[in-house]
Amino acid sequence: MIKKQTIIIGGGLQGLATANALLDRGEDVLVLERRNGTALETSFANAGMITPSQSSPWNSPKDIFKMISSIGKEDSAMLVRMKAVPGLLGWAVRFILNSSSKRFTAATIDNFNLCSYSRDLTASFRETEEINYDESTLGTAKIFRNQKSFEESLISLDKFKELGINYQALDSNSLTSLEPQLKQLSSQIIGALLFEEDETGDAYLFCKELERIVRNKGGRIHTSTEIIGLQSHKMKITGVKTSRVDIQTNKVVIAAGSWSRHLVESLGLNLHIRPVKGYSITLDLDGSNASPKLAIVDEDLHTAITPFKNRIRVAGTAEFAGFDEEIRDSRILNLIGTLKNVYPDFSSNLNYDEGHIWSGFRPMSSDGKPYIGKTKIEGLFINTGQGHLGWTMAMGSASLLADIMTNQKTAIDSMPFNVLR
Ligand SMILES: Cc1cc2nc3c(=O)[nH]c(=O)nc-3n(C[C@H](O)[C@H](O)[C@H](O)COP(=O)(O)OP(=O)(O)OC[C@H]3O[C@@H](n4cnc5c(N)ncnc54)[C@H](O)[C@@H]3O)c2cc1C
Repeated sequence: MIKKQTIIIGGGLQGLATANALLDRGEDVLVLERRNGTALETSFANAGMITPSQSSPWNSPKDIFKMISSIGKEDSAMLVRMKAVPGLLGWAVRFILNSSSKRFTAATIDNFNLCSYSRDLTASFRETEEINYDESTLGTAKIFRNQKSFEESLISLDKFKELGINYQALDSNSLTSLEPQLKQLSSQIIGALLFEEDETGDAYLFCKELERIVRNKGGRIHTSTEIIGLQSHKMKITGVKTSRVDIQTNKVVIAAGSWSRHLVESLGLNLHIRPVKGYSITLDLDGSNASPKLAIVDEDLHTAITPFKNRIRVAGTAEFAGFDEEIRDSRILNLIGTLKNVYPDFSSNLNYDEGHIWSGFRPMSSDGKPYIGKTKIEGLFINTGQGHLGWTMAMGSASLLADIMTNQKTAIDSMPFNVLR
């Protein structure tokens, strides 16, 4: 007998947020996750930023140049590994075609609308559910050491100002009065951009709260359950084959991050997504008041430094290396180097040997926008491809998909994220 429950594949940010949004619309959900807990892959130790301010895809002409010139250069912030090149070819052509000024600008606008919607939903979810996840509403600051890139950023932000991207341009004095720990760097800083409407927090703690709330609302989550295949008949989804049992259903949501592509391939669907590896190191703090409070982004290095309640995290780098899980010392040393450069005194008291190191695979689409919505297989839905904005977009993406699935009007235009585009 066909059950009415919706099966959601993947227990990361997108899967859990989708479960919550569907439960809110009266649906019955079962989340299936192959790991022995939720949020143990890409949603585990990301930079922790909710940043509509970073809505641009990573295929600006500047980024493409960086990628091409990085081949073989181990210390590049963006790095393409030779062995990953064959698997990237078709995707890379699309990625480059989508970098035209027109498409890049359109994708930034679409992403910004989703990111802002999502940030607002995250904040109201936090308030309604009274949850904590080491969140901060101080905003984020982008720092610049190079006049040219500061000016370029100001020009490109100006283009998007009418969308509602609010920011303040700061000189180094104003920046250090906001974040006194940056004093030693002040002579190197040309300027900074403060995005007060961005937020930060620990995405893993957020997922754990989401998991608890999903269960409280009656949703079920089965871990250690891998989906081995999707079952369909006459272009309709009929069930999933798992490592434990086969389950019949007429609604399946693929929210399996970078692994989503392989899951849908057998049904003739092609998601243009590739894993883009990033790293982080999280260090415990002694709770002293001298710790930085403001989250910092160094865009040129694709690196972020995020203070949490009793910890600080440095995250970044973009490595095109397929699903290579090796955590390379050189990448972690680069992150530590950035921290030491930004906060020379503060960083000298940290215990790096006890730092928690991690890597994850951002599910990056070739046009920099997520895939959210229906597929050509009836009953099969997708919510993935959020790339470097997966936490920022999680609550918004889930809400869009849940509205589409329950035939309700979406709060923002869902067409830019159409799976069939
Ligand atoms: C270094 C780094 C920093 C980042 N910083 C930020 C940031 O500051 N802000 C931001 O917005 N985003 C950030 N991101 C991006 C964000 O973390 C990701 O986009 C987001 O975590 C993706 O969530 P997801 O649920 O799609 O994927 P995942 O968290 O990877 O979840 C997918 C889940 O599906 C499961 N799965 C896969 N295949 C199967 C299967 N066959 N059967 C069952 N389960 C399966 C996996 O085990 C996994 O748990 C960062 C990413 C990295 C790597």
